[in-house]
Amino acid sequence: MVGKQISGKEIAQQLREGLRDQVLNAGCFRKRPPKLAAVMVGDYPASKIYVSAKQKACQEICIDSELFHLPQSTTQLQLQNCLDFLNNNPAVDGILLQLPLPAHLSDQTAILAIDPEKDVDGLHPISLGKLLAGQPGFRPCTPAGVMHLLQATGVVLQGKHAVVIGRSFIVGKPMALLLAAKGSDCTVTLAHSQTQNLPELCQSADILVAALGRPEFVKGSWIKQGAVVIDVGINRLPSGKIVGDVSFEDACQRASAITPVPGGVGPMTIAMLLKNTVDSAIKRLS
Ligand code: NDP
Repeated sequence: MVGKQISGKEIAQQLREGLRDQVLNAGCFRKRPPKLAAVMVGDYPASKIYVSAKQKACQEICIDSELFHLPQSTTQLQLQNCLDFLNNNPAVDGILLQLPLPAHLSDQTAILAIDPEKDVDGLHPISLGKLLAGQPGFRPCTPAGVMHLLQATGVVLQGKHAVVIGRSFIVGKPMALLLAAKGSDCTVTLAHSQTQNLPELCQSADILVAALGRPEFVKGSWIKQGAVVIDVGINRLPSGKIVGDVSFEDACQRASAITPVPGGVGPMTIAMLLKNTVDSAIKRLS
C-alpha cells in the first residue's frame, strides 16, 4: 500500500478561509477585529521566523496583530509587566508568548502570568486542566491541529490504538489526552525516551503520532500496514533540509495516510492559533 499524503497545507488553508469569512461577517467584529499580541524575547532566529509567519497569517485573515519584541536582557519581572499590560488591555483577545525563552527566564513562570482567558496557545495550567477534565477551553495548537487533520481526512478513531511518541506538555501529553477523550475514543499509549521495545509498540499502532524531535527516527518497518502516521517533528539537517521524525519515503510504503514535513502539521499549528484567537474575540465581544 502506498500512503496517501495528508496535506496540512490545504486543510489549514480551508480553515483559514472559514475564519476569514467569520472575521469579515460576524456582527461582533463590526466593533473591532480580533487582536493577537505576540511577545518575543531576544533574537533566536527560529523564533523570529515563527513569529513573523504567525503575524503574516493573522494579516491574511484580517486579525490585528502586534509584536512586543523585548531585548535579550529582559528580566522575569519585566516580562511579567509586559504580560500584565496585555492581560489588562481590553483590546487584546489573545497573547502568544513565543517559546523557548532565553535560558535565564522561566517558560513556566511566564506562562502562569498570562490571563487564562487570553491563553490562545492553550499552555496555561488552567487550559491544560480543562483539557484533562474534559471541559471546554483553549487547546494547545499543535495537538488540536492534529485532531483537526484527522477529522478532516475522515480517519475513524473510535476504538483504535494510538501511539504517541513524546510526552512534552506542548505536544505529546495533550495529544494523548485529545485522542483518548470521549468522542475520539482511542486507546492511547504514550511513549518517551525510556520506553522499551518502541519499534514493536509502534507496529501495534493504528494511529502513530511522532513528536520526539529526532530526524527520521521512526523507520518504515515500524509502521503497521495501513496505519495513519502523523509526523509532528521539524528537524533541520546539516544540509539545511527540513525533515520530520519519521523516515517518510519508507513509511509511505506501509501507511494508509501520512503527513509530510514540511506541509503537514506545521500549517495546522498556526491555523489553530488563529482559530483560538477568533474564538476568544467572539467570546469577549459578544
Ligand atoms: P521536546 O524535546 O519537549 O520533547 C520530546 C519528547 O520526545 C520527550 O518526551 C522525549 O522523552 C521524547 N523522546 C526523545 N527522544 C526519544 C526517543 N529516542 N525515543 C522515544 N521518545 C523520545 O519536544 P517537543 O514536544 O516540543 O517537540 C517535538 C518535535 O515536534 C520537535 O521536532 C519540534 O520541533 C516539533 N514541533 C512541531 C510543531 C509543529 O507545529 N509542527 C510544534 C511544536 C513542536 P523524555 O520525556 O523521556 O525526554
